[in-house]
Amino acid sequence: MADIIIVGAGPAGLSAAIYARRAGMSTTLYEREMYGGQIINTPEIENYPAIAKISGFDFANDLYNQAINLGATLEFDKVTAVSKTDSGFEVALESGRTDTAKAVILAVGASNRHLGIAREDELLGKGISYCATCDGAFYKDKVVAVNGGGNTAVEDAIYLAGIASKVYLIHRRNEFRADEVLVSAAKALPNLEIVTPYVIESLTGEPKLSGVELTNKEDGSKKSVDVDGLFVAIGQEPKTADFKDLITLQGGYIEAGENCRTNVEGIFAAGDARTKKVRQLTTACADGAVAALAAIDYIKLGV
Ligand code: NAP
Repeated sequence: MADIIIVGAGPAGLSAAIYARRAGMSTTLYEREMYGGQIINTPEIENYPAIAKISGFDFANDLYNQAINLGATLEFDKVTAVSKTDSGFEVALESGRTDTAKAVILAVGASNRHLGIAREDELLGKGISYCATCDGAFYKDKVVAVNGGGNTAVEDAIYLAGIASKVYLIHRRNEFRADEVLVSAAKALPNLEIVTPYVIESLTGEPKLSGVELTNKEDGSKKSVDVDGLFVAIGQEPKTADFKDLITLQGGYIEAGENCRTNVEGIFAAGDARTKKVRQLTTACADGAVAALAAIDYIKLGV
């Protein structure tokens, strides 16, 4: 039996592993995809204290190496269920195996929200992408659109403006949720055009995407924009479906306060999947520390 099982090896999970290992806890991380979580898709991080600039990919690698070098174990498998036992918790894995631990930290993160319009899945990889750093290079000197008004969308639009000949930043409101510094930087780019307040109604092109049909949210007017690519950056949805019968969720997020404690003793929540106001890299890492220290208290002191 491990002391702590951490579900998810993003910034929250890996930070939790660092704290758990430094306290001498045997620690196993389970990750269903690539370690690093969503941060691997961020071209440049410029708001992590004491690191002026680093790519998301490099940050994730450094964090991974730190946790592994401290003795954490990472296994690539999907946790499909967690259940309480007499001595702790049993974790069921997609591979068919099970594992046990005294405490569990859910750092499952969130995945990209989809537009939910016709042909979105069919055109994935044929013009539609959810990751500018992964797929941006395919659009050198081409025309692309980014949809969304948060930090991800505006950062992606700025990044793509350095590759594509033209970038349309389409957002459903005239005001942006993104940080002002990013919005100002986007507005200053000569090949970036802001298109608001518009929603994407439909996708055109066969067999590849060739355009988007837009509707103005204020006056209902329609317009078409020809694009070779569309980067959807409209937020995330927490990956908590497998745990809905285990712990209390609120709007899909794991209900837990700043102490990272869920309604089930011995289960802790960290990172973007937790109910919280600020979902940033710094707060994900902070959650990892808080959740690990709380799990250690639970194991050692029973509180
Ligand atoms: P977000 O902040 O939740 O923004 C999502 C955007 O998509 C919003 O502008 C929203 O519009 C729009 N949207 C949502 N559903 C939509 C739909 N169905 N159709 C059209 N538009 C839709 O998501 P995010 O930008 O991915 O950021 C997530 C978190 O990570 C945030 O806390 C963000 O600050 C953080 N982040 C930080 C950095 C950084 O600090 N460098 C970088 C990336 C992300 P409305 O505004 O109208 O709701």
